[in-house]
Amino acid sequence: PREPLRERAWVEVDLTALAHNVRQIRGLLSPQTDLMAVVKADAYGHGAVTVAQTILQHGVTWLGVATIPEGIALREAGIRAPILILGATHTPEQIQAIAGWELQPTLCTPKQALVFSETLGALGQTLGVHVKLDTGMSRLGTPWQAATEFVQLVHRLPGLEITSIYSHLATADNPDPTMMRQQQARFQRAIAQLRATGITPPRLHLANSAATLTDPALHYDLVRVGLGIYGLCPAPHLQSVVDLQPALQVKARVTQVKTIQPGTGVSYGHQFFAEETARIAVVGIGYADGVPRNLSGRMTALIRGERVPQIGAVTMDQLMLDISQIPEVQEGEVVTLLGRDGGYQITADDWAALLGTISWEILCGFKHRLPRVAM
Ligand code: PLP
Repeated sequence: PREPLRERAWVEVDLTALAHNVRQIRGLLSPQTDLMAVVKADAYGHGAVTVAQTILQHGVTWLGVATIPEGIALREAGIRAPILILGATHTPEQIQAIAGWELQPTLCTPKQALVFSETLGALGQTLGVHVKLDTGMSRLGTPWQAATEFVQLVHRLPGLEITSIYSHLATADNPDPTMMRQQQARFQRAIAQLRATGITPPRLHLANSAATLTDPALHYDLVRVGLGIYGLCPAPHLQSVVDLQPALQVKARVTQVKTIQPGTGVSYGHQFFAEETARIAVVGIGYADGVPRNLSGRMTALIRGERVPQIGAVTMDQLMLDISQIPEVQEGEVVTLLGRDGGYQITADDWAALLGTISWEILCGFKHRLPRVAM
């Protein structure tokens, strides 16, 4: 494939780091446990097709997406691995697309299960489906107390073959495990009640990245790992469990350099005034690329192995750096916004901390305008 241009700003995706992270996580799992990589939101901004093609060669056996188009994009790229749609789907059109592209839906309500069964009956098709239980996240899923009736219904309905029963944890990244253990206990109870009715539950799964790193007892038959695959740790207290390497770097070029005099304002609103003569670099990346405007004047960037402050408001396509400490920087040089240069590293966690958000949101924020370059 044609190498994307590294002309203004781009995202570099380190395939070796992805493979390393998969091996690290796989190393925590028993041989019987499957590793599902959650590649929704374009693989958390890394580029779903390239990520999937890479990690499927290193021990990932399932893929999880949020939406039907995300699943179709993987199929169109020739990816044959089983794909679970984690989001809810309801309409006959959606069901036709799921069946046609050999995707696997999540079933959350009796009404939804009935529509699936009817539509598949009309199509003369059978589909592997995944039953979702709500054990405490209060998002998708049938309440765990009603699990038995719901699973019995799905079991009975023609056209539906239960492939897994799963739930999602709300607080797995909290060092206090109380709520997570309550969810686990509810999941266990629901499954035990189901077994008592004579239905042998197929594959069970509960764990996201944090739970996967926390305790093998949470792994069941499959773990659904997103963040960890991309090399970020879901919580500080889990940092020592495995060695993860961030796979994504964000880079941009210096597009102009100039010297400004004391008292000169920089960028919209003049949020920054030079107190002394300063050398500044204009860099070709902005909030339309996914650099949050709220980082204005608070972030740093790396250039020539040095850390320099960003000054003034981040604009739509450009931002400015104070390069007074390295005035020899030239137009065309590469700036690292996220990633490593010299002895420094800036991670999505650093941005998240500055913004009071989480690394997941930072990673998903990089727009398609930035070409993804596999390294
Ligand atoms: N499972 C479900 C249902 C999810 O929605 C997600 C992501 O939000 C994951 C697993 C993966 O979570 P994480 O990125 O924390 O590993």
